[in-house]
Amino acid sequence: MVGVSVLQTSKIANMSLGCDFSVLEELISNAKKIQDNVLDKILKTNANTEYLHRFLEGSSDKELFRKNVPVVSYEDVKPYIDRVANGEPSDIISGEPITTFNRSSGTSSGNQKIYPTNNIYFENLLFGYALSSVVMSKHVDGYKQGKMMIFRFTHQISPTPCGLPIAPALTSFTKSKYYSRMAKNSTSPYVVALCPDPKQSMYCQLLCGLVQRDEVVSVGTTFPSVLVQIVHFLENYWKELSSNIRSGHVSDWITDLSCRDSVSIILGEPNAELADLIEKECRQESWQGIITRLWPKTKCIETIVTGTMSQHIPALDYYSNKLPLVSKVYASSEAFYGLNLNPLSKPQHVSYTFLPNMSYFEFIHVDADGEATSEIVDLVDVKLGDYYEPLVTNYSGLHRCKVGDILQVTGFYNNTPQFRFVRRKNTVLCVDVEPTTEEDISKALARATVVLESSDLILTGFTCYGDISTVPGHYVFYVELKAKVNNGTNVLQLDNKVLVECCCVMEESLSSLYRRLRGDEGSIGALEIRVVQKGTFDSLMEFFVSRGSSISQYKTPICIKSAEALQVLEDKVLARFFSDRSPTL
Ligand code: AMP
Repeated sequence: MVGVSVLQTSKIANMSLGCDFSVLEELISNAKKIQDNVLDKILKTNANTEYLHRFLEGSSDKELFRKNVPVVSYEDVKPYIDRVANGEPSDIISGEPITTFNRSSGTSSGNQKIYPTNNIYFENLLFGYALSSVVMSKHVDGYKQGKMMIFRFTHQISPTPCGLPIAPALTSFTKSKYYSRMAKNSTSPYVVALCPDPKQSMYCQLLCGLVQRDEVVSVGTTFPSVLVQIVHFLENYWKELSSNIRSGHVSDWITDLSCRDSVSIILGEPNAELADLIEKECRQESWQGIITRLWPKTKCIETIVTGTMSQHIPALDYYSNKLPLVSKVYASSEAFYGLNLNPLSKPQHVSYTFLPNMSYFEFIHVDADGEATSEIVDLVDVKLGDYYEPLVTNYSGLHRCKVGDILQVTGFYNNTPQFRFVRRKNTVLCVDVEPTTEEDISKALARATVVLESSDLILTGFTCYGDISTVPGHYVFYVELKAKVNNGTNVLQLDNKVLVECCCVMEESLSSLYRRLRGDEGSIGALEIRVVQKGTFDSLMEFFVSRGSSISQYKTPICIKSAEALQVLEDKVLARFFSDRSPTL
């Protein structure tokens, strides 16, 4: 029996690699009590911080906390966080020392945020991932016996002005003592993930995966943009990879010595048979199912395809011959939230069950448009079918901080609620007064994808922006496309009728307000699709990575706000298409 002692997070982390399903059962059967204890512990540790003292005057009373401590967004607490980053003591915000800062991806807004953190965050990640692996073993035969080809990358850790490390959460985690214990079943040696050059790292991870192709049961990345980029990388490098396998010699440009040495051991003796097989598969005109052809025992693709990441489903379905796409966890730089307990469910049916020991969670009730209705409830008090924005109170200085995501309650497992990820909260696209959300855009894109697929085109990259340089303003959707079958010329044939139809079906699926403004009132112009060259979205990712985004945490922004990022796309536009009729009202 684990009991409520599960609260002692460090203990959990120690046992987590050997944990079984009963740990999870125990947690979610005691959600209310565990949440209560988490808050108790956080308040006792932090009551005397400068921040909480302002509201609680040293008390650790939970009712007073709910009454006096304000609900905040990142910008509200940023001045406190910045003071710690600049060298003032941790106890401005946290009773426990702040040991590192998590830099969130923030690619759509262009504003990166830094979150104070400490080992409890990493212990929570380890625990969450270990539990999700238990769930996977339960649902996927042979999961534990096989190898994972999960691509991981790390970045340079830069210091804050006072010398504390600042890095994307997954970089700090991967470099920590916690992660090394998790890396055991991976096809790549741990040191390859630590390589500072992403190109060498990607090449070596692919090489290791190819050599062990018969053992691979699972292929993945945290978020799917990178997985699509890895397939593009393979398209460019398969000849060299197979030549390395044929000769038993790693290419000379792999100069990172730790990578080179560890990968050489895995590469072993020359293997002409395997090299022939790789060349035969990669030479085929169609790359449909390339993942299953090269790694025939793969049972699933592990990558998060809920929320805006659903835009990558068509490309992943194509490359994997529709293997199950598994969104395992819901987590962020602020906290680890929950697990998908039915990992093989279809992306549209994925729900995450919150883990009550991770942080203290509250929920702002919102209507379907994301507007707050003022009620704030505890984890176990959310209502089936209702929409909420989570608030996090964690072990490293965030108190009642808005996460900025909208979730919908889809059910309960024992007492613990399960949530569907709906979207990021803010309106992302607006050229007049219409609030178009990420969810609206994802739906419009799903409609366009059906039209594209019927013409044997696969969407491999997508983003959008509201162009107000035209009068009236209009929506611009950048898309990168791939023909299902290569016509031998490598030139993409674009059918005007198909692309115009895509523009029209997207407009039809947008909100009634959009359609009215576009139709009757004419204050929004015709929706435009700009088709970009192959590789443009890889360049976009490289652009964001050069600005400090993490490859492992990179998510293609659903909407672009940065002028420089737009320029990356604009430089590669092949053709433009406009909707040719007003949408129905
Ligand atoms: P970051 O702090 O950069 O890791 O980004 C965290 C954000 O990524 C979350 O607030 C969500 O908006 C998004 N995210 C994380 N996990 C998921 C998931 N499983 N499904 C959808 N979106 C997710």
